[in-house]
Amino acid sequence: MLRVAIVGRPNVGKSTLFNRLAGRHLAIVNDVPGVTRDWQAAEARLGDRSFLAIDTAGLEDVSAGTLEGRMRQFTEAVVAEADVVLFLVDSRAGLLPLDRHFANALRRIGTPVILVANKCESRSARAGAEEALALGLGDPIPLSAEHGLGLGELFEVLEPYFAAAPADKAADDDEAAADSGPLRLAIVGRPNVGKSTLANRLIGEERLLTGPEPGVTRDAIPLDWEWQGRAVRLVDTAGLRRKSRIEAELEKASATEALRAIRLAELVMLVIDATAGLEKQDLTIARHVVDEGRALVLVLNKWDLIDERQKTLKEIRDRLARSLPQIKGLRVVPVSARTGRQLDRLMPEVVRAHEIWNTRLSTGRLNRWLAALVDSHPPPAPSGRRIQLRYITQVKARPPTFALFANKPHDLPASYLRYVENALREAFGLEGVPIRLEARKGANPYAGKKPKKVSKLAKKKPAVRRRPANRKD
Ligand code: GDP
Ligand code: GDP
Repeated sequence: MLRVAIVGRPNVGKSTLFNRLAGRHLAIVNDVPGVTRDWQAAEARLGDRSFLAIDTAGLEDVSAGTLEGRMRQFTEAVVAEADVVLFLVDSRAGLLPLDRHFANALRRIGTPVILVANKCESRSARAGAEEALALGLGDPIPLSAEHGLGLGELFEVLEPYFAAAPADKAADDDEAAADSGPLRLAIVGRPNVGKSTLANRLIGEERLLTGPEPGVTRDAIPLDWEWQGRAVRLVDTAGLRRKSRIEAELEKASATEALRAIRLAELVMLVIDATAGLEKQDLTIARHVVDEGRALVLVLNKWDLIDERQKTLKEIRDRLARSLPQIKGLRVVPVSARTGRQLDRLMPEVVRAHEIWNTRLSTGRLNRWLAALVDSHPPPAPSGRRIQLRYITQVKARPPTFALFANKPHDLPASYLRYVENALREAFGLEGVPIRLEARKGANPYAGKKPKKVSKLAKKKPAVRRRPANRKD
């Protein structure tokens, strides 16, 4: 689906336009990689076209620093991942230095920009819109987000982008992205664990990330490279560069940065310092990755400094089993980013985890498996009447998500669902990635119907929310 980012300084009307385009039903889209709840993304419509609108309003409050710095930092990642940008200025207020600043930043990133002069409902404002020409981003589209004026013209300028975007395939869109695009990788972790050193090693171009050159605006721009012919994109490199802050602040900022990076990525490399072991914040970040449904690989860096390797590895594995039971089989890869030792083992694990994350299991296979499972380990009968598990199907991939149809899904104990989930993971080798299992009410939707209906049924809201992750620490 076409991704349209709405960008501009505070108060130009970004949220107003977002709400107008997305309409009443603000179906917040969470499952699109690179799109976050904070960044408010929703399926929007213009004319007969639907697209993904991404509102960047409010990002300026998220972290410390100058206003420009904050906006730049949080908006650039969104812009770099968007197909086209609607750059809003306020035609009543005229051009401010921040508008120019944004215009320059947008030009550098290179995502196509449509300049929009908002608040143009009055004649005097339309005169003000002319001023925006000075930004050098072409003719501004006069618009009034509040009054809904100018949307026809906006549609016309967006039309070529709609045409270029892949056809609307709704749920399949995600899968299409999987086949064509690069593997979107994020490298996260606490300060000084060796993230930048690792990134440089992987990409093999020292100058990309290190060095005194501030180059702030390049931070959020994705870096592409190839590993054995496979395209890989390092998304959101902001966290890899900012070194100048004081320690405590850096620690805090790294948590925020990790969250953002996780949302942009398909696969997250969580780097820890093997000499320090798994710390609380490492586990917090890992849980975010699981909650966001991304694939995860744990990198034990600075392995060159470890003497008792077997013991260290065992301690970390044990801790993971206790503290992150919801992601069984997580890959743990010891490396030394500095010396480069064992580094050749990392990317194969990454690619493998990514493949598992993309797994699609046929409904036939799943149901043969379910029948055997129910035979050997039937669900409990809480009030004398046995709960019947009727059917299972994979609703989507990335992460693998399954719907389990039962006559009384609400009565299924969490422990049994966990059992099914673990059995599923084991039977189909879904190790080291989050998987989702939703119990729904219903009969076998295949019975007496054409198979087509399944996907419709599967898209219905689950009768039971996904059970919360089982958390202990
Ligand atoms: P954001 O900070 O860019 O998201 O801006 P908002 O969407 O919160 O809008 C800032 C202010 O401008 C609000 O008071 C809006 O009601 C107002 N506003 C938004 N669009 C228009 C418009 O087309 N015309 C006028 N006159 N006011 C608008
Ligand atoms: P970041 O803050 O996570 O990006 O960490 P850096 O990449 O800046 O590394 C922090 C420090 O750890 C630097 O002094 C690196 O040279 C050092 N370092 C990184 N990787 C290794 C490693 O594998 N072994 C050792 N001994 N030191 C490392």
